[in-house]
Amino acid sequence: MELGIAGKRALVCASSKGLGRGCARALAAEGVHLVLNARGRDALEQTAAEIRDAYGVEVITVAADITTEDGRAQVLAAAGDVDILVTNAGGPPPGMWSDWTRDDFVAALDANMLTPIALMQALMPGMIARGWGRVVNITSGSVKAPIPVLGLSNSARAGLTGFVAGTARQVAGKGVIINNLLPGIHDTDRAAALDGGVSKAEGISMDEARKKREATIPAGRYGTADEFGAACAFLCSQHAGFMVGQNLLLDGGAINATL
Ligand code: NAP
Repeated sequence: MELGIAGKRALVCASSKGLGRGCARALAAEGVHLVLNARGRDALEQTAAEIRDAYGVEVITVAADITTEDGRAQVLAAAGDVDILVTNAGGPPPGMWSDWTRDDFVAALDANMLTPIALMQALMPGMIARGWGRVVNITSGSVKAPIPVLGLSNSARAGLTGFVAGTARQVAGKGVIINNLLPGIHDTDRAAALDGGVSKAEGISMDEARKKREATIPAGRYGTADEFGAACAFLCSQHAGFMVGQNLLLDGGAINATL
């Protein structure tokens, strides 16, 4: 399917690895020029070089922490006007509801709610002025079904989801389409870290921990960053213009719900 976005410019946050990189690669494959971001410079430059070589698009890199005001300012200055925004950042650590402090909640809200909101506030006025834009927020399946050990994530992402639900309907008439992509378990460093938590808590090997988590997924496996990226590219395409404020779950059927 021709997505009709060749030549557009996209900012993909937190994109040197994992799901963000999957989104960046899928957009580049459609001819979209990119601004990529992550904190660590080495993996970021490596990903940028791979994408330039594979797809021949322009790729600008900004090594900065997207969850800080200073980091966002650097990224936004380098990005300039973009047509497509993919928000992403690392997820909060697992833990126990009784242990989290106010500071833990503030950090989670900053990273996974207030950062994507600040990026939308900065970039959507330009999209509205030009009459076209796409925003995809990488959130989590925890928005649909809570993951008890990830209470910080459950909380922050629910807040972002509420913001998007209203705002998407305010900007759709101006040509700007906002949707959320909700990953279930995907084969990334983050998934390996969570496997490690299960392995440690239950005294089982990493392989056993993975098999145990795979058994909870009807598809019988973890998702891939490429599959995730393909869904993101569709949401950024010309064809997604009537899909407003939706929460698209990619979880291999793990959440057992009819709707
Ligand atoms: P990942 O494989 O660990 O990759 C995270 C990427 O984000 C890396 O490029 C990392 O680079 C960058 N990053 C992290 N914190 C950043 C920050 N503060 N500023 C800029 N870049 C940052 O993670 P992932 O699996 O792709 O997960 C992406 C998001 O989806 C996370 O919020 C995660 O909680 C959520 N999610 C993932 C899964 C899953 O199964 N994978 C499931 C549900 C939800 P640097 O470390 O160099 O900054």
